[in-house]
Amino acid sequence: MHQKQTQEILKELAKKSTDHEYYTPLPNGYAPGKTKYIIITGSVMSGLGKGIFASSLGRVFEDHGLRCSPIKFDGYLNIDAGTLNPYRHGEVFVLDDGLECDMDLGTYERFLDKNLSKENYLTGGKIFSRILSREREGSYLGRDVQFIPHVTGEIKRFLRELAMKSKADVVLMEVGGTVGDIENEYFLEAMRQLAYEEGKANCCFVNLTYVLEPEFLGEQKSKAAQLGIRRLMELGIQPDVIACRCHNPVTEKVREKISIYSNVPIDNVISIHDVESIYLIPGLIREQRLHERIIDSLRLKVKLKPEPNDWSDYVNKILHPKTKLTIGITGKYTGLRDSYASIIKAMEHAGAHNFAKIEFKWIETTEIEDGRKKVEDELKDVDGIIVPGGFGKRGSEGKIQCIKYARENNLPYFGLCFGFQMAIIEFARNVCKLKNANSTELEPNTRYPVIDILPEQKKIEGLGGNMRLGGKVVEIREGSIAHALYGKKALVRERFRHRYECNPEYIEPLEKNGLVFSGKHPEYRIMQILELPTHPFFVGVQFHPEFTSRPLRPNPLYMGFVKACLKK
Ligand code: GLN
Repeated sequence: MHQKQTQEILKELAKKSTDHEYYTPLPNGYAPGKTKYIIITGSVMSGLGKGIFASSLGRVFEDHGLRCSPIKFDGYLNIDAGTLNPYRHGEVFVLDDGLECDMDLGTYERFLDKNLSKENYLTGGKIFSRILSREREGSYLGRDVQFIPHVTGEIKRFLRELAMKSKADVVLMEVGGTVGDIENEYFLEAMRQLAYEEGKANCCFVNLTYVLEPEFLGEQKSKAAQLGIRRLMELGIQPDVIACRCHNPVTEKVREKISIYSNVPIDNVISIHDVESIYLIPGLIREQRLHERIIDSLRLKVKLKPEPNDWSDYVNKILHPKTKLTIGITGKYTGLRDSYASIIKAMEHAGAHNFAKIEFKWIETTEIEDGRKKVEDELKDVDGIIVPGGFGKRGSEGKIQCIKYARENNLPYFGLCFGFQMAIIEFARNVCKLKNANSTELEPNTRYPVIDILPEQKKIEGLGGNMRLGGKVVEIREGSIAHALYGKKALVRERFRHRYECNPEYIEPLEKNGLVFSGKHPEYRIMQILELPTHPFFVGVQFHPEFTSRPLRPNPLYMGFVKACLKK
């Protein structure tokens, strides 16, 4: 009854918001209760793998036929992740609609095997920029614009719009950062209000916390977790489920303590301990029947189903590889694996489907450049090499040396975006004999600008001369290696993030000397895939095939690369 009343009141208030203290804009046609909300917060510390946990939960729900729409909130004031330094924040992931976002959205896409869009990502900056433009449009006329109710109201609107647009059964809301951070406090307040308005049966709060197990004690300690959860309760949020990240399975004693402290029944305090592979986490959730508890609390009508065979098969392949490959990756962010998360994942997918475990050797190309290391020493023990996406001059000459080595020594080579461009430079210099050919990104006055920023083409695409972003169609040349790998498809869709491209003036000399452009823009002379027909595998792509690779549907080019490395 209470819930119905709240909803009636809500509808009334939405109509005459400006006369009241309330500000609860409901999207047109919004029906409360149609979509359920699961709100996932983190306590004690960040870096617990909240995204992986939330994605795994989503996977289990999807396997039960529930349509899930994930959304991540990041507290920082950037509008999107486009300008974030991957060294500080991990890789910038690109969605099909061109949104540059947090790498967690990549995890969601991979686990849920679906494309997400800009509605699935929210930052503090995006919320405030919307509010400020609404304020200028006069939408809040007569009112002082406040954190409560306006900021919280806009956040709720964003979530409800997602619920409507995605037609999801469940919106899976991941709140970035840790409870207690100043950046997400107003956001949690919005979640508290959302739960009140939508009603108990429509919202479920899951807190991922951390149980310490210091080596010097050899025992698990729950105090930090208790205090972290308390902090959430101080904000007026009663968690329904506590998931404990920890090294070993959480003991009964610790679960009891957490339960007493937090008003959460002990059965709803579960253990998300370290496992061999992240693909085992959906299984861990199932084992402890976490999904069942959430399904019950949200009064969802679902028939329980076992884990699908294709997922279990995949987990098996990951856990029991038959062989091993060592792949060299060059780059300036080699200090931080998060910077290359999608590449690592895409290699893992293609590796698993070929029964191979992939190990990476990180190659710091500045050391090759300045002579501290020799390219042949660095590459003699790798089965293949990747030159990934990148920006700027640092290490680029070393990368070109690596590519030359791979081309001349029949070592499988896979160039991604910047790696495509560097391969063109290498080929232009060493095969076409265009001395010191370069990209104008690295050498603005180069005599042979084989890679250049091409403003006319940017205009054609209407992208304002900045980055060319998001999913685009690539036309594949019949009979090429790419054509065979893509299953003879004439058109494929891949995701881009670049400013520079192969200068059309050089297409002819490059092709005359044996380079094949096997993928291009369907209308314009923008080259998007290159290959060397005489080499075991020498392929470069202007896009990022790693963004479309999924555990059960690995990207075909990655599959081709791994197969070639295995043959070597
Ligand atoms: N710096 C290159 C460009 O802007 C490559 C970008 C990338 O690798 N993502 O075109």
